[in-house]
Amino acid sequence: MTVPRIQLNDGHSIPQLGFGVFKVDPAETERIVSDALEVGYRHLDTARIYGNEEGVGRAVAASGIPREQLYVTTKLWNDDQGTQSVHDAFDASLERLGLDYVDLYLIHWPSPARDRYVETWHAFEELRDSGRVRSIGVSNFLVPHLERLLGESDVVPAVDQIELHPAHQQPATTAFAEEHGIAIEAWGPLGQGKYPLFELPEVADAAAAHGRSPAQVVIRWHLQRGHIVFPKSSTRARMAENFDVFDFELGEAEMQAITALEREGRVSSHPDEVN
Ligand code: NAD
Repeated sequence: MTVPRIQLNDGHSIPQLGFGVFKVDPAETERIVSDALEVGYRHLDTARIYGNEEGVGRAVAASGIPREQLYVTTKLWNDDQGTQSVHDAFDASLERLGLDYVDLYLIHWPSPARDRYVETWHAFEELRDSGRVRSIGVSNFLVPHLERLLGESDVVPAVDQIELHPAHQQPATTAFAEEHGIAIEAWGPLGQGKYPLFELPEVADAAAAHGRSPAQVVIRWHLQRGHIVFPKSSTRARMAENFDVFDFELGEAEMQAITALEREGRVSSHPDEVN
């Protein structure tokens, strides 16, 4: 199964479908990520705050998969924003992962109350220049945060990783990102199991029409919209189901019906409030 790649604004590319490990128990991470790699995932999305970078690293090491075939993202936690603290936090993440570089490093939240994300971004530029990070990006940045960053740096983030699913599509942020060549990564692509996406008739009907599951329909919708996604599951059967989405396509009317489900259905926190 070949996963398409999305071209980033810095010359690198990223597998469009990956595997996320938010809320994956550190004690189980190695087993779960090993399952995901066996299923075929090659793109892993973790973060310092998830507490499971070691488990991800152990699964990567045990897999024997050549490093260049894997794509690993991790994220800087809010209390490590700054200059020296970024370098220290990055070194520690790299050590926990057991890697000598990561493919993508993200500022996890803008944390506006700290007012340090511009300084933090400049430290990210240094990390990229050092070669130990291939691409740098942001997460949970809305238009005002992106505008400020672009006004104070020549380096445009490669990605913005934001909460995005059919009920919460963030049109302003995605339009701004598209205009500036920033790829969108959709976190919580299935609504984190908190938003009842799977029961909506627009999703259920498309699933029935294609003989697929509602989760597969929602993942397909993301892929056809051009988002990068990494749904999370601890169950191997669901990991396989979520990866098995490249042999069917939603029609124009199905895409439009699901896109019409937008209703500002945020399931997590507003980025201005996570400090
Ligand atoms: P998600 O939308 O991927 O939902 C995961 C939940 O959906 C699972 O726990 C399970 O309950 C359910 N599920 C998964 N596959 C299913 C299937 N086939 N059928 C039925 N139910 C299924 O939510 P997420 O894990 O929060 O988001 C994905 C990834 O995004 C995370 O693991 C993490 O890597 C990233 N993320 C980033 C941020 C951020 O602030 N940058 C925040 C949250 C998540």
